[in-house]
Amino acid sequence: MLLRHTPNEIKERSALTINPAKTCQPIGAMYAALGIHKCLPHSHGSQGCYAYHRSTLTRHYKEPVMAATSAFTEGASVFGGQANLLQSINNIFSVYEPDVIAVHTTCLSETIGDDIPQIIAKARDEGKIPAGKYVIHANTPSYVGTHVTGFANMVKGMVDYFAEANGHKEQWINIIPGYVEPCDMEEIKRLTKELGVPSIMFPDTSEVLNGPQTGKFHMFPAGGVTTADLMRTGAAVGTVALGRLASGPAARALDTKCKVPCEILDLPIGLKATDIFIDTLRQIAGVTVPDAINLERGRLLDVITDMHQYFYGRKVALAGDPDQLISLTQFLVDLDMWPIHIVTGTPGKKFETRIKEITRESPYPVNVRAGGDMFLLHQWIRNERVDLMLGNTYMKYIARDEDIPLVRYGFPILDRIGHSYFPTVGYRGGLRLLEKILDALLDRKDRDAPEESFELVM
Ligand code: SF4
Repeated sequence: MLLRHTPNEIKERSALTINPAKTCQPIGAMYAALGIHKCLPHSHGSQGCYAYHRSTLTRHYKEPVMAATSAFTEGASVFGGQANLLQSINNIFSVYEPDVIAVHTTCLSETIGDDIPQIIAKARDEGKIPAGKYVIHANTPSYVGTHVTGFANMVKGMVDYFAEANGHKEQWINIIPGYVEPCDMEEIKRLTKELGVPSIMFPDTSEVLNGPQTGKFHMFPAGGVTTADLMRTGAAVGTVALGRLASGPAARALDTKCKVPCEILDLPIGLKATDIFIDTLRQIAGVTVPDAINLERGRLLDVITDMHQYFYGRKVALAGDPDQLISLTQFLVDLDMWPIHIVTGTPGKKFETRIKEITRESPYPVNVRAGGDMFLLHQWIRNERVDLMLGNTYMKYIARDEDIPLVRYGFPILDRIGHSYFPTVGYRGGLRLLEKILDALLDRKDRDAPEESFELVM
């Protein structure tokens, strides 16, 4: 109904985005900052931006997201936001007592050209930052990049401000988990522990945005990487960064700053990417893979084999974040499904090249676009129909109009729960994904089956 008038004919558009497949940079920066223990994210701009960032995160995680704003008015918009930020830093440390304030900019403060490091230095000189407390920052102009870029910039900021080399290498590994759900971070930590590899994960939003109901309000939840651990990242034996776009810049910065070598891998979504993740940890830490992890892998493999007939040859359309789409596309290809329309709102030609490589044996032409939008995805679908769609909540309009099953995946998911509690990374996460895909395909099969072939058993 809502998108019924999307035309089949595709015209090149360079100055118009319709139904973007992305959100704005500060949202990712705010999400990353929440992964530091006792950190208050701070939006340096107007209250409108800040309200949008907080509400998007709150709606996705179904948790109250705490943050602050420089609350620009006309004066700050013309003369710059230094006075507002200085006042904010003073107020926040006096009233809320966080360990860290993580400042990210907005389109407005970037256009004005506020020099955040200079303002932070001034705040320190004026005694507005108490001893043992920190103010860090990331530049997040939203007219370039997306929430993934914002996340990457803030994670790199953690390295720039905290990481310290202590002259010798300690036996732990840094894990940068990428733009994934809090439960995914938890699952990556569990796998690492199961392997017997000591690690520091940053950022870590588990138990921040998927915490329990205790009946008590906590301004700063239990989770998050501590500032002490962030400093220790510079002495690690190595870094495993998951997701080239979201985690790569921080891993490279840590290598440059503290000589911590890094491996940048795909997000461990699906069998192959998880194998590579486990094997990389095994090699760096010199451990053997325990039976418990082999068991999890075997279970995933078993379901893939048993259910192969339902996956085989199904055409899929996907929209979302590049790091996730790369691993998801690989997983679908490994299941003998055919991802044929793939769009991310985040620009970057490398993404298109990588997807083309993964889908090179596809019997269908594959449409892929970095910096594209959902309008284009809808047009592709109208020209070549698919059996399944994977993507965030905004895909539901296309799903409804085209009557195609949708598996919700990515960010934001505003109309379902589960994504922050049930991981999709690792072997167990792969099983969860398979279950969701199978449910969607088999529910559709049941719905459309004529009475004589409406089967009780699959
Ligand atoms: S003005 Fe920029 S920072 Fe603010 S909400 Fe819009 S895109 Fe995001």
